[in-house]
Amino acid sequence: MKNIPTIKFKKLFINGEFVDSVSGKTFETVDPRTEEVITEIAEATKEDVDIAVKAARQAFDNGPWPRMPGAERAKIMVKWATLIERNIEEVAALDTIDGGKLYSWCKTVDIPEAANILRYYAGAADKIHGEVFKTSRNLHLYTLMEPIGVVGHIIPWNFPTIMFFTKVAPSLAAGCTMVLKPAEQTPLSALFYAHLAKQAGIPDGVLNVVPGFGSNAGAAITSHMDIDAVSFTGSTETGRRVMQAAALSNLKPVSLELGGKSPIIVFDDADVDKAVDLALFGILHNKGEVCVAFSRVFVQEGVYDEFEKKVVEKVINWVVGDPFDPKVQQGPQTSKVQFDKILSYIEHGKNEGATLLYGGRKVGKKGYYIEPTIFTNVKDDMLIAQDEIFGPVMTLSKFKTIDEAIKKANNTKYGLAAGIVTQNLDIANTVTRSIRAGIIWINCYFAFDNDCPFGGYKMSGFGRDYGLEALHKYLQVKSVATPI
Ligand code: NAD
Repeated sequence: MKNIPTIKFKKLFINGEFVDSVSGKTFETVDPRTEEVITEIAEATKEDVDIAVKAARQAFDNGPWPRMPGAERAKIMVKWATLIERNIEEVAALDTIDGGKLYSWCKTVDIPEAANILRYYAGAADKIHGEVFKTSRNLHLYTLMEPIGVVGHIIPWNFPTIMFFTKVAPSLAAGCTMVLKPAEQTPLSALFYAHLAKQAGIPDGVLNVVPGFGSNAGAAITSHMDIDAVSFTGSTETGRRVMQAAALSNLKPVSLELGGKSPIIVFDDADVDKAVDLALFGILHNKGEVCVAFSRVFVQEGVYDEFEKKVVEKVINWVVGDPFDPKVQQGPQTSKVQFDKILSYIEHGKNEGATLLYGGRKVGKKGYYIEPTIFTNVKDDMLIAQDEIFGPVMTLSKFKTIDEAIKKANNTKYGLAAGIVTQNLDIANTVTRSIRAGIIWINCYFAFDNDCPFGGYKMSGFGRDYGLEALHKYLQVKSVATPI
């Protein structure tokens, strides 16, 4: 097994230092390629979260970060971005061994993108301003945009790097201080980024990283009386708990980026080869552990048979294996829990009467590898068509009319993303307007830009990451009036 970097950072990062947890507890992080323990990481519990929040509060109330000109914050953020790029191979390897992600993807997409996110929000840091109002009263009326305060960030394990920076970068630009909990399955890169943040000159206490479990460190963040806002990405079930804890503590605002069960709709006029490629990438990218994955594929009856034949012809050549190997397209699922969950959904699909067209088995003797899996004869109310499986499992079904396609696509409690494959602009426009989802991809998948807000409708959550919308999550508006 090649390329395993030495793990240098295993402790909590609080107030600019790597420290042991108060309890002395640690937890194991596991390499999903081998099922072997990579290392032990200090485990934050409520006491550690309290200490981290105190450091963040002190940095917010008395430290330089919220007070320095935006342009100065920007310089430090840009320096951090450069340091990340200089360490790209090491961090990419950390995400690969911790999460089973393709090394080449981490190196060429996720980590360069993280640096870009930092630079994008660095560019916004000196453009935060309020408004002046013209009024008939004898008043000078204006607004100030102020950082919201100490922010709690909680992120999942499927994109440890991108999630880290979509949370941290806009809140830093806004002038906030923060406590971030990475997912317990993938703590390694977050600690490395904390080390680079210190090197870049982010003042002590501004960024605190507390690896640990959701029910302990995570819950301590969401219920903390001295955290001013929480930005959460994870499952819908946990999102509900986050909102409840925020409501029952200090009524802190929350933003929730939650689960999905996104459809892709292929119309009769589509180029079927391209549609098949899109649908496969849409469900197999990052081994299906993607909140926006095209897990439900609806194909119009005129091209259905051709689509079904070609999807099998192509998936046969899909390469599952060690994510360091550049030929490999799909690595192992991130954890044993996720691996077992996906296999049990596959069994469920068979039992509830869907036809297993391809795959469905684990791959190899060691590691959490699963074959790309395709079900046909899927009814919309089946569990595999309703639950977020979060794995390489496609459900494929047929439709006749546009109205039927829209109805099927919207038949979900989620509303994160949707795909449309057609050359017909009228169809694309009609379907786009009729689907209740936060992002629509017409003839493409996974197309993002830093400037474009991203988030959910329905039970996929609320609030937006990316774009200036995300910056505004971390600001609050103060109105000022003075007689003239
Ligand atoms: P999860 O909800 O189990 O965990 C996410 C994070 O929340 C982890 O850091 C976890 O430790 C923490 N957590 C768990 N219980 C908590 C609690 N009671 N209080 C506070 N924090 C708690 O989700 P997951 O399994 O890690 O991630 C997969 C889910 O994330 C999927 O549903 C996926 O769709 C979703 N996701 C959404 C987006 C998006 O942008 N909408 C992006 C990526 C992943």
